[in-house]
Amino acid sequence: MPKVLKSAVPAGQVAAQRSDVADRVRAIIADIRERGDAAVRDYSAEFDSWSPQSFRLSPDQVEEIVARVPAQVLADIRFVQDQVRAFARHQRDSLREFEVETLPGVHLGQKHVPVAAAGAYVPGGRYPLTASAHMTIVTAKVAGVPRVAACTPPIRGEVPDATVAAMHLAGADEIYLLGGVQAVAALAVGTETMGRVDLIAGPGNAYVAEAKRQLFGEVGIDLFAGPTEVLIVADHTADPFVVAVDLLSQAEHGPDSPAVLITTSEELAREVLDHVEALLPGMPTRDFAEPAWRDHGEIHVVDTVDEAFALADTYASEHVQVLTAQPRQALEKMRNYGALFLGPGTCVSFGDKVIGTNHVLPTRGAARYTGGLWVGKYLKTVTYQEVTSSESSVLLGEVCGRAARVELFEGHARSGDVRAAGFRRGELRW
Ligand code: NAD
Repeated sequence: MPKVLKSAVPAGQVAAQRSDVADRVRAIIADIRERGDAAVRDYSAEFDSWSPQSFRLSPDQVEEIVARVPAQVLADIRFVQDQVRAFARHQRDSLREFEVETLPGVHLGQKHVPVAAAGAYVPGGRYPLTASAHMTIVTAKVAGVPRVAACTPPIRGEVPDATVAAMHLAGADEIYLLGGVQAVAALAVGTETMGRVDLIAGPGNAYVAEAKRQLFGEVGIDLFAGPTEVLIVADHTADPFVVAVDLLSQAEHGPDSPAVLITTSEELAREVLDHVEALLPGMPTRDFAEPAWRDHGEIHVVDTVDEAFALADTYASEHVQVLTAQPRQALEKMRNYGALFLGPGTCVSFGDKVIGTNHVLPTRGAARYTGGLWVGKYLKTVTYQEVTSSESSVLLGEVCGRAARVELFEGHARSGDVRAAGFRRGELRW
C-alpha cells in the first residue's frame, strides 16, 4: 500500500472551483457572440487593463517592438525556434500519404491537409510565455497552415516585447494583443475586426482552457492544455535537492498547478519535503508556488518502481519526470503522460523552454486519450477513393445494394443498384 506523506486538497473543492470558472466562461462567450468587438474590448479592459484602438498590431508596430528586444534574447528565440522547427519537420516527414489498390481498379488514398486558418494562443497573464509562441506558431507553419492568427495578452498592461518578437519570428500572419476568454471566443466565432479560424491551439489558464473546451465543435481545438502539472517518479538514486527544485519549478506556474512525487524511498521523500520548505521562502515566484504546493502538492511512498509507474499512470500527468536507476523503463511501463523526461540530465524546464519537443501538453487527465500539440494537430487526415474498373463498380454496387437494404437505407441501395446495373449493361461508362 502506498504511504501518503503529503496530500492535496479534497477533490470536491477543486471541482467547485472548476464549476465557477465554467459558468464565468459561458457568460463571457455568450456576450461576445452577441456584442462582438464591443464585448471583447470590455473584457480586455476589465481583466487586462487593455483597450487600444486596435488589438491587432500593425507591421510597423511589430517592427518597433522587435527593435526593442535585446540581441541575445532574439538570438535565443531563434535558437529555440530552430529546435522546435527541426523536431516538427521530423514529425511532418514521418507522416505518410498513400494510395492503395484494394480490389482491381479500386483506389483508396489518404492525405494530410492543413487547416486554412489557425489561432495560436500564447499565454501571458502571470508570465510572458514567449516559448508558447514557438510551440504553437512554428509548428503550425511547419504543418503548412496558410493563416496563423496569434493572440497574447498584455502582461499587467505592458506589451510583452519578447513574446511579440517570437510570434513574428515564428511566422505569425496576424498578431493581436488580446488574451483570455475574449481572445479564444473572438478567434472561434469571429468579430467585426477578427476573422474566425478553423482551429485554436495553445495552452492557458483555467479560463482559457475552459473557453476552448466550451467552443469545441464550432471550432477545432488542439487539446485540453490547462494549468501545468508535474509528476516525478524517483528512487533512492535521485538527488533530493534536484527533485525539490524540479517540483517547485512547475508549481510556480500558478496556484492551481499540481506537483506530485512518487518514490520508493521514504528517506528521499522526507529530504525533498525539507528542501521544498527551505526553498519556498526564497523563491521570487513564491506567491504562486507556495499555494500550488500547499493545495496541490503530493508525496507518495511505494514499494517498487513498477508500483510507482502504475500509480503515476493513474494521474495521467502532463509532465512525468523519471529519476530512477533505469529511467528508460518508463517508455515500456507507462501509458498515460503528456511528455516523459528521462534521467537527471534533462528536466521539464528544458521541455518548456529550449529542447524542441512541444510544450503544449494535455492536463486534467487528458493524457489518457491524447498526446500534446504536434504537426498532426494542424492537419486533417482525409481520405479519397476512385473506382476505375466496371467489374469492381458492379461488385461494389451489388454488395452496397444488399448492405444498405439491411439498414433500411433504400436511397443508398439505389446508388449501388444504378452502378451495378449501369456498368453491367454497358449503359454507364467512362
Ligand atoms: P493566460 O494567458 O492563460 O490567461 C490570462 C488571461 O486570463 C487574462 O488575459 C484574462 O483575460 C483571463 N482571466 C484572468 N482572470 C480571469 C477571471 N477571473 N475571469 C475571466 N478571465 C480571467 O495566462 P496565465 O494566467 O499566466 O496562465 C497561463 C497558464 O498556462 C498557466 O496555468 C500555465 O500552467 C499554463 N500552461 C499550460 C501548458 C500546457 O501545455 N498545459 C503550457 C504552458 C503553460
